[in-house]
Order: sequence, then structure tokens, then C-alpha cells
Amino acid sequence: NKQVVLQRYIEEAPRETDMAMGRGKIELKAPKGSAALLVKNLYLSCDPYMRGRMRDFHGSYIPPFVLSQPIEGFGVAKVVDSDNPDFKAGDFISGLTGWEEYSLIRSTWQLRKIQPDDSVPLSYHLGLLGMPGFTAYIGFYEICSPKKGEYVFVSAASGAVGQLVGQLAKLHGCYVVGSAGSSQKVDLLKNKLGFDEAFNYKEETDLDAALKRYFPEGIDIYFDNVGGAILDAALLNMRIHGRIAVCGMVSLHSISDPKGIQNLYCVVPKRIRMQGFLQSDYLDKFPQFLEHVTENFKQGKIVYIEDMNEGLETAPAAFAGLFSGKNVGKQVICVARD
Ligand code: NDP
Repeated sequence: NKQVVLQRYIEEAPRETDMAMGRGKIELKAPKGSAALLVKNLYLSCDPYMRGRMRDFHGSYIPPFVLSQPIEGFGVAKVVDSDNPDFKAGDFISGLTGWEEYSLIRSTWQLRKIQPDDSVPLSYHLGLLGMPGFTAYIGFYEICSPKKGEYVFVSAASGAVGQLVGQLAKLHGCYVVGSAGSSQKVDLLKNKLGFDEAFNYKEETDLDAALKRYFPEGIDIYFDNVGGAILDAALLNMRIHGRIAVCGMVSLHSISDPKGIQNLYCVVPKRIRMQGFLQSDYLDKFPQFLEHVTENFKQGKIVYIEDMNEGLETAPAAFAGLFSGKNVGKQVICVARD
């Protein structure tokens, strides 16, 4: 059973060499009485939150990975053998699995059966119809309190979460601008994902001036995927009673700017509501999310960009690439097609 294991705990951004290929033995049966599933992994998800599990830190909402063991993450898999009455051999599932060819899944947390559907690729259950898509849905509708006609700014806008946030905001009748880290991504935002405007934040020497250019009347909603300097500039450009959904702070590993956030005071005079959230607190809303997004996807009102790497061996580099913006769209690893 080929595996990707964590070699060492990290402090900075993950590097490919923090992980290594390994081999383990696995019996292709779910032990009797275990309520577990033995699955063949098809697609694995690379998600920025996993960096937190690579740190030797036990105070978070999720424990660190175990050294020399396969990395754990969301995946789409096919059930080979089941000791859980809700699943049978041949079912497709999404849930927390291992970065390996076959896994024994004991936890039913966020474990879902997938109905194969010719019009929706299976791997989309890791992105558009999976945890990142759900994050976009919850963050936008529950945290941002959007109204038609509002001005919305999204950072890491072409990524797994951001690209859906922008499209949901457009469907809601908002004006949407995204920031991303390359001209290719900016082009996708404007010409494929339907954003009104987009800019490459790496080419802007003054982020405050850039936001003033795109939002002369200010920002009502900032969906923050990155934190750091972009958040700082957004704070200066928020309108009164603006909302900031703090989804993640993927830039924090690389902050070399000793100034940190300077403009937090803006939340007071502008009466900004700034709220962090975790998608996993809203799982009761997953069925309505799935219905809403699947429907819009099938009607061609939503599109989704994936960055698919072939082979388990490519997972460490693909994962590390999230933190330098190598991925164009949702980063997925194909381990096997069926
Ligand atoms: P993405 O697909 O957007 O991939 C990460 C992207 O972050 C990169 O492609 C890169 O895009 C950008 N990035 C990397 N380093 C920096 C940096 N230093 N400064 C600015 N941008 C950077 O990831 P996801 O869509 O999966 O995740 C987006 C955010 O949402 C993350 O912060 C993640 O932790 C968070 N999240 C939160 C959840 C929750 O429940 N709150 C659940 C899921 C995700 P670019 O080239 O544009 O810079």
C-alpha cells in the first residue's frame, strides 16, 4: 500500500521534502465489529488547513498528524469492504481518508455517500460540492449577510473557495472583484468565472490604491482567504456597516512584514462586522448547499476550475504549491480513476 507520510513537524510553509513516500501493509477487509470501511482512494484533496496539522501544536480544533503515518485529508474513494451497515462494497464516498492507495476509514465525521452522476465529475466532491464549496456557501450566505447590488471583494479568488464565492455573489446580484497572484488567474476570473474585475496583487505596489481604483465607493463585503497585507488594505476601504468574513489566513506563514495589521481600528468608526467561521459548525446546511450548487452547475450558471495532478507521488509537491500559489483552481490528486 503506497503512502505519503509526514517526515517532520514544520514551523514555516510546508515543503515537498517534509513529506515522503512510504509503504504499509493493509488487509483489504474491514475488521468485523469495527464499523469501518475499507476503501480504494480515487481522488485526494490538498487543502491549506492541513498545514496546521503539520505543526506540533495540540491547542487547535484538530490534532496534528502522526509522524511517519499517512497524511489524513478529504478524499473520494470506492468502498471495497464495509462493516458499516450504511455502506456497501461498490459505493462511492467522500470523507476523511489517508494519502495512500487503500485506507481503513473508522471515522464517520463528514463521511458521505456520493451518488455517481454523469454530469458531475466525482472529484468535484472535493471542491465545488465538497468542503471548499460548502465553505464558500456558508461564508457568503451565513456570514456576509449579502444584499443585491453590494460591492464584494474576494482574495485568493481563483482558488477552491474563492472561485465559488465570486460566482455566488454574482448570482446574488452583487458587484464582484477578485485578487489573485498571476495574470493567468486574473484572466480566468474575468473571462471564465464571471467576476466583474480582477487584479494581480503581486503587481500592485500600493494595495490601498488598487482597492480604491476598483471600489471607488468602498467595499460592503470582504471575503478574506488570505489575511495579512490584503486584509489590512481592505480594512481601509470598507464601507460603513461592511462585513468581513474571515475564512482563512493562508498568507500568514510567509509574513515577513514586521508591521502586521495596522488598520484594525477601522472596525470601530465604520461599524464593520468581522467574523471568523468554520464550515464544520454548519453541517446541517450541507444538503441545501448541495442542492443549490448542483442545480446551478447543471444549468451552466456555475463553473469550476480544478488543478488535477496524476499519481500519489505528486501529492507532496502539489500540497506545498498551495502556499506559493502554484495551483490554478482546486488542487486535487488523482490516485486511481476507478
Ligand atoms: P486555494 O485553492 O485558494 O489555494 C491557496 C491559494 O492561496 C494559492 O493558490 C494562492 O493564490 C493563495 N496564497 C498562497 N500564499 C499566499 C500569500 N502569501 N498571500 C496571498 N495569497 C496567498 O485554497 P482554498 O480555496 O482551499 O482555501 C482558501 C482559504 O480558505 C484558506 O485560507 C483556507 O485555510 C480557508 N478555508 C477555511 C475554511 C473554514 O471553514 N473557515 C474551510 C476551507 C478553507 P494566489 O496565486 O492567488 O496568491
